Amino acid sequence: MTAVTDALEQVRSTLREVLRFDDPARWPDDELLAVTASIEAVGRVIDAHRAACAGEVDERSRVELGSERLSSRRGCRSASELIERVTQASGAEARRRITLGAATRGRVGFTGEPLEAEFPGVAAALAAGLLGADAASTIVRELDRPRRVADPVTLAAAERELIAAATGTGDGAGTPVQCAADELRVQAQAWAVFLDQDGPEPDDDRAMLRRGLRLGRARDGLIPIRGDLMPEVAAGLTRLFDAHLSPRSNTGFVTDEQAAHFDLSGEQRSTDQQRHDVLAAIIATTARSGQHPSIGGAPPTVLVSVRASDVAAGRGAGHADGVEIPVSLRAVRQLICTGGTQRVVLDDRGRIIELGSQERCFTPQQRRAITLRDGGCLIPGCSVPASWCEIHHVIPDVEGGPTHPDNGVLVCWFHHRSIDTSGWGIRMHHGVPQIRPPIWLDPGGGWRDATKSPTRIADRLERRTRHRAERRPGPAA
Ligand SMILES: [Zn+2]
Repeated sequence: MTAVTDALEQVRSTLREVLRFDDPARWPDDELLAVTASIEAVGRVIDAHRAACAGEVDERSRVELGSERLSSRRGCRSASELIERVTQASGAEARRRITLGAATRGRVGFTGEPLEAEFPGVAAALAAGLLGADAASTIVRELDRPRRVADPVTLAAAERELIAAATGTGDGAGTPVQCAADELRVQAQAWAVFLDQDGPEPDDDRAMLRRGLRLGRARDGLIPIRGDLMPEVAAGLTRLFDAHLSPRSNTGFVTDEQAAHFDLSGEQRSTDQQRHDVLAAIIATTARSGQHPSIGGAPPTVLVSVRASDVAAGRGAGHADGVEIPVSLRAVRQLICTGGTQRVVLDDRGRIIELGSQERCFTPQQRRAITLRDGGCLIPGCSVPASWCEIHHVIPDVEGGPTHPDNGVLVCWFHHRSIDTSGWGIRMHHGVPQIRPPIWLDPGGGWRDATKSPTRIADRLERRTRHRAERRPGPAA
């Protein structure tokens, strides 16, 4: 073995002696933190040489050496694999050390003249044990792309500033407070943008290639959705979510009367659940808009098949085109209520023997009339606007309820989906929707006219004011 490995072996046994602690659980706080910092300082020295060794292994394994590559001679496909085998580190860690080592090692020019490292400041701070591998890697990673295009003087300044921020070193009063690696990343990204004004473009190209959205395999009765959105698409979606998840106070739809009766802050859905319901409304609105490609001449609505006998008996399940798991009868009823049905009768062998016409869909004209009357989701405290609502058949079609404005009210996806279980009652009274809150919200409460339509609310306020004024005794003579 070499002198260096012998010496390191001695350091290791000395360290093991020194660090043969008594139980850390008994240390006072200050001592625990002091030892934590000291061990980190020792680790930084080691980290610097881990990176240096990895950089050298990588250099000796560069592709142009062919069969003479160090990695090839040791039966490995790459420098990274060789380091993994020698150190038992993970592939990610081996690659990180190689990147750092390569960026901080001295180079040789075309004519054999020595050149300084790509990041000389980081190299010096690493070697001095001032900078940890974490912080050093962050600086190298974030400044690597701008390094190729930026003015060298400004680049050197950026490197110096970031090292000063990471180590808390510098001159005089301008010395920054030492920052942790995460904070350093934010600063380094800001510098990267400053150094490379055209910077986001290559990122954008990469992002365009990697963008995507997919529905996963069903699990526990749900379909997972995963993907990566372009930033501006995510921004648009966030805007839609925000618009519908904003605090109730700015909806302006809720009357004093309603507010007095119900605890409107009683939102029981999590934010994630609310976002899901907003997405449901986005999908329904979009399908209804008529501005999207049709599927076989029909707007892209969900096709669900269910047996009429199951709907009548209230058991079984439906099957929606495009998903592999069955949908509940509650969901089927909602889809029928909103989207209409077409009756298809099959014989025992599956042959179609009767095909009804499509029914039970409110026409756009009916929808406009209902929107004028109801103004939005009828449930008090719900801020979903009319254009995002579904139309609910108050008396279900199977019980003879007509598809007529006198039997259709606006409710949002969530309140429609939970209408059987939420405890909210909805009925029509001489063509005017009335709601009755659940007992837990309003014990002993009765039916009340419901609307979110600003003109109808104004009407009602005016009527009540007039009524009060008439009952008030006149001024004493
Ligand atoms: Zn609602």
